[in-house]
Amino acid sequence: MKLVLRGHHLLCLQGFQGYGYDENFVKNMTEINQTRTSENTSISLTDSPDDICKSCPNLKNNLCQNATQNKIIVSMDNEVLSKLNPEMEYESVELFEKVQNIFNSKESVNKICDNCMWHDKCLFYQKL
Ligand code: SF4
Repeated sequence: MKLVLRGHHLLCLQGFQGYGYDENFVKNMTEINQTRTSENTSISLTDSPDDICKSCPNLKNNLCQNATQNKIIVSMDNEVLSKLNPEMEYESVELFEKVQNIFNSKESVNKICDNCMWHDKCLFYQKL
């Protein structure tokens, strides 16, 4: 199986514990979070709407909420992508191991996670 994921979602998925914007979003995110643990899953990276965004009520005209918010989201993606090779198709399990090793402290994610509304529900952020 092949997934397309935007940079910052590589962190969100690690912290996901069933909370989200609506039922449809949570169902899709839960499925993706299971799929990404399979040995047969590969991942392409992006800073645009991805397989998670496609079931999100915040996606409007291919933007996350609006032009201003979208800019912030894209810069969060690019912070993550700058530590990876965005042209490469990664094997999912290996990619998440790599990401875990790179983003392993609160300092390493401060430009990505600092203003996120999900801090109190995100296991990834809480464990840093
Ligand atoms: S549209 Fe925005 S809020 Fe929704 S999943 Fe994508 S990045 Fe997150």
